[in-house]
Order: sequence, then C-alpha cells, then structure tokens
Amino acid sequence: YENEARVFFTAKSENEGFARLFAAGFLTQLDPTISEMTDVKTAVSEAVTNAIIHGYEEKGGLVELFCGYIGRKIYIEIADTGKGIENIERAREPLYTSKPEMERSGMGFTIMETFMEKVRIESRIGVGTRIFMEK
Ligand code: ATP
Ligand code: MG
Repeated sequence: YENEARVFFTAKSENEGFARLFAAGFLTQLDPTISEMTDVKTAVSEAVTNAIIHGYEEKGGLVELFCGYIGRKIYIEIADTGKGIENIERAREPLYTSKPEMERSGMGFTIMETFMEKVRIESRIGVGTRIFMEK
C-alpha cells in the first residue's frame, strides 16, 4: 500500500461512530468526493455492526479496521475473531438474516456490495470473519 492505517477497538456499538470517523479521517488524504466518502463510511458501518452483533453476539472482543490505498484505489478490511459465518452464500443473499427477531433486515452485505466495487468474505466457524472491500 502507498499509505495504510489499522486500528483495533472494543466491539461496542458506541464505537461504530469511531470506526466511521477513522476511515473518513484517513481517506481525507485522498481528497475524495462526498459520495465516495459516504459510500465507504456506510460500508464500514455495516461491516462493523455485523462484527459486533453477529460475530461477537454482543459478548465483546476486538474489531479490527484496516484502511489503505494505492493511487486512488481504496482497500478496507473489517475483521472479528467471533463465531464465524456458517453459510457465506446464504449470508450474502438480500433479506437473509439470522436475527429476524432483532429487527435486522438482512441488507448489510447487499449495502456493502452496492456501495463498494468488490466485497470478499473470508470466514471460519469459531475462528472469525474478515471482510475485504475495494473501491
Ligand atoms: P442488517 O445488516 O440489515 O441489519 P443482518 O446483519 O442480519 O441485517 P447482513 O449484514 O446482510 O444482514 O448479514 C447477513 C447475515 O450474515 C447475518 O444475519 C449473520 O447471520 C451473518 N453475518 C454477517 N456478518 C457476520 C459476522 N461478522 N460474524 C458472523 N456472522 C455474520
Ligand atoms: Mg448487518
């Protein structure tokens, strides 16, 4: 990477705003358009929320956020060492949620795919999940 930054923070919903600001603060150096910035912040929010409520199921742990760029290409990673995703294909489907009782709409991954050019999911049960995104 031409420039990169990485942070680990406690898996609390209070830190979602921090994660968005960290990504936004770092990417400001690229002089992004307002919409590029909003897109990345939205995708980061979705992935961080997932790490907190699905990965750790609100039991806590550390969420990792990586931001990097090469030229104008942006690379983001969000990782947790929580429960992992059983069926990645199904998790990516619009409207699929494992927590319908929690008023989740199952649109997180669809939103990430809409706002970012590439979204790759790596996950192992009991080991954790890492989301790689490019824009
Ligand atoms: P919404 O994001 O609309 O509130 P949601 O979080 O259920 O609802 P997605 O973000 O699309 O929907 O995620 C789909 C499903 O993938 C989740 O319901 C959950 O089962 C699984 N999942 C997503 N991220 C993780 C993660 N980090 N760890 C474990 N499971 C995950
Ligand atoms: Mg979600």
